[in-house]
Amino acid sequence: MALHRTHRGDAEPFDDVYALPISEHALPKYRMPQRVSDARAVRALIHDELTLDGNAAQNLATFCTTWAEPEVHALMDECLDKNMIDKDEYPQTAEIENRCVHMLADLWNSPQGTSTVGCSTTGSSEAGMLGGLALKWRWRERRRAEGKSTDRPNLVAGPVQVCWEKFARYFDVELRQVPLEKGASGLRAHQLRDHVDENTIGVVAILGVTYTCVYEPVAEIAAELDRIQQDSGLDIPLHIDAASGGFVAPFLQPDLEWDFRLPRVASINASGHKYGMAPLGVGWVVWRSADLLPEDLVFRVDYLGGDMPTFALNFSRPGGEVVAQYYNLLRLGREGYAKVHGACADSAGMLARKLAGMGPFTVLHDGQGGLPGVSWTLTDPATTPFTLYDLSDQLRRRGWQVPAYPLPAGRQDTVVARVLVRHGIGYDKVALLADDIRAAVARLTEAPGPHVTEQPSFHH
Ligand SMILES: *Cc1c(COP(=O)(O)O)cnc(C)c1O
Repeated sequence: MALHRTHRGDAEPFDDVYALPISEHALPKYRMPQRVSDARAVRALIHDELTLDGNAAQNLATFCTTWAEPEVHALMDECLDKNMIDKDEYPQTAEIENRCVHMLADLWNSPQGTSTVGCSTTGSSEAGMLGGLALKWRWRERRRAEGKSTDRPNLVAGPVQVCWEKFARYFDVELRQVPLEKGASGLRAHQLRDHVDENTIGVVAILGVTYTCVYEPVAEIAAELDRIQQDSGLDIPLHIDAASGGFVAPFLQPDLEWDFRLPRVASINASGHKYGMAPLGVGWVVWRSADLLPEDLVFRVDYLGGDMPTFALNFSRPGGEVVAQYYNLLRLGREGYAKVHGACADSAGMLARKLAGMGPFTVLHDGQGGLPGVSWTLTDPATTPFTLYDLSDQLRRRGWQVPAYPLPAGRQDTVVARVLVRHGIGYDKVALLADDIRAAVARLTEAPGPHVTEQPSFHH
């Protein structure tokens, strides 16, 4: 008998993962197989497919966490079985969620940090929707009490992330997106008056506009809403979409007033899995005070014999991300967050200076006073022999994922490129990127080829 066919007990004599039956064909795509397969082989084959994805360490398009400390990996593994909704079975995970809510409320200067309400979510999208629902419910209660119609609610915002378009469509609210003014990359306070009315459930201001990384002028927006109230009696609450900025501004711009220090701010959402540095799958929403969350949005689940209020779109949800968020808050403290994000802002500043020195570019945001990222545009697209889509395409050949896309309504003819610098994207890597941009510009200038005119949008 050939040696490779001899069996020792039930064990395969030769178990190289690339020579097992499952490895002999392309992996099934439409029907699940009938037979069981070797765990190591399946794992190896799926691993190999995953290597065809873009390299997350070179993905400069995403705001989300792509690197975590080994301790986070260990905790995530330990929490594989934690279900966020099972408050009774996993009371300590529920307690940890509460601690995070209170720490964030405090970080965002809530007047009632220890008693305010909030919760974890799957991300800022769910968190924003919960904030939006509370706005809608409060507006409707108020209107009903006044005997007025409640069938045409609207929400006013600048160029928002797609989650607000979803909120509006899913929950029957008209989204009034204020077009960008020339030279602006977000909502400007003086634009509000033309868009709000008695059916406005709230205004959303964005701390860290996705397109450009700048902060909208939240304090000015709040002050304008104060003036509108004085003039017209309309008392319009403000929700802050601080998906990215909520975990940046408290550390890098502590004096910037954008949070509960402004009395008009009713609620704030942020993504734990962006600059909160938790792994993917956690966001947060916090209300200024418990009375701003209408009771009939809250469901009660059993909790240690008592009941625990919950407000969420999901039921079962993993607990590991919440635990990892708590780890980050404890591990880094305010000092650590300031150091990590400060280093990112410094690297962004370096990239912005280099870009500005290359010739064809105008920097829109240099990583200072906003998110640690850089956005830029072509100074004169008409006379430049390439587009930012060409540049993005060239960089992709070296593995860099740098998106190019048009600005939203009002400035659609302006195309921008954007790089996000976050934990795990070090100074050296950003310097290497700058070298590659310089080389790409030289290539594109010497041999302008057929141009790339658009790109699948991967900037959200
Ligand atoms: C990323 C982002 C969102 C959506 O957040 P997720 O956590 O990805 O759901 C909403 N608003 C802004 C401003 C964002 O940057």
